Amino acid sequence: PLQKKSGCTGTTTVVSKSPSSSEQVTIVEHRKRPCGDGFTVHTYLRGKLLGKGGFAKVYKVTSLDTNKEYAVKIVPKANLVKSRARQKLQTEIKIHRTMKHANICEYKHFFEDKVNCYILLELCHNQSMNEMIKRRKTLTEEETRLLMLQIVDAITFMHDSNVIHRDLKLGNLFLSKNMNIKVGDFGLACRVDSSDEKRRTICGTPNYIAPEVIEGNKEKRGHSFEVDIWSLGVICFTMLVGKPPYESTDVKSTYRRILANEYSFPIGKVSDDARRLIASMLQTNPKMRPSLDEVRRHPFFTMHQIPSSIPPSCTVSAPIWC
Ligand code: ADP
Repeated sequence: PLQKKSGCTGTTTVVSKSPSSSEQVTIVEHRKRPCGDGFTVHTYLRGKLLGKGGFAKVYKVTSLDTNKEYAVKIVPKANLVKSRARQKLQTEIKIHRTMKHANICEYKHFFEDKVNCYILLELCHNQSMNEMIKRRKTLTEEETRLLMLQIVDAITFMHDSNVIHRDLKLGNLFLSKNMNIKVGDFGLACRVDSSDEKRRTICGTPNYIAPEVIEGNKEKRGHSFEVDIWSLGVICFTMLVGKPPYESTDVKSTYRRILANEYSFPIGKVSDDARRLIASMLQTNPKMRPSLDEVRRHPFFTMHQIPSSIPPSCTVSAPIWC
């Protein structure tokens, strides 16, 4: 089992098809009672597929006990044969369960059966920023300001908890029913024991990866919290321009462009304040990048109006401000 069956946390599940309909799949959780005597049974009705990741499928589920909706990340144990994969999932759970913040997708709990591991999560109704950008192409600067500040708040919480996310990208920024950002997927996150400890493993998605991560792997240098600021710069650029700054036909050329810091803004599309903010975050030298507080205090945010919310219609079309 992935989690120790000691104390109050141990659970097992059985997945079964409802006898009444071959369409309805239920997930049954056997949750150990806190005092250790026996277990309680919790059934979830599996709904539509919300998305697929490298190791997992994510479905909408409804608890038949409470009628509440959740997302469940199902990881087949067949994908966890290698100890590295098991370790990765364990780290993801260990970190994610401590990340309680309004702009972080809430981890509810974990259970498992013989075949799968299940991570029950807060349901984010409006998909990820990736789908939003695909449909919209670009976002307005007003929307970008609001969404960016929410991401900055989430990262501030992580960094204050000594957690580096290391895989911030549009596909990991989910949107709630009310169009608030919910950062998800802590699969590559790490917790550093002291703030100057450096990590040496390569991780992140090519388009969003910081230069010191590519270099660090070659030269055995480390990287730290500043990698998330770099990704924030890539996210902001992508929201306003419609594609990531270093995008290329293949991973090798993307890395080459990142290392040469080769990107440009399309003419007349992005304001000077936005350009300056993005350029400050996309500095090759991690020490030169702004702190999260400096990002917040940048004129891109302080010199312009910020909407208090955006409507769900923004997933398909630009807002019309009254
Ligand atoms: P992996 O770690 O395997 O990459 P993710 O956590 O990124 O998996 O999830 C894969 C996809 O499932 C996401 O891109 C998203 O579309 C969807 N998804 C994940 N979590 C949620 C959630 N809490 N609510 C709604 N959709 C989600």
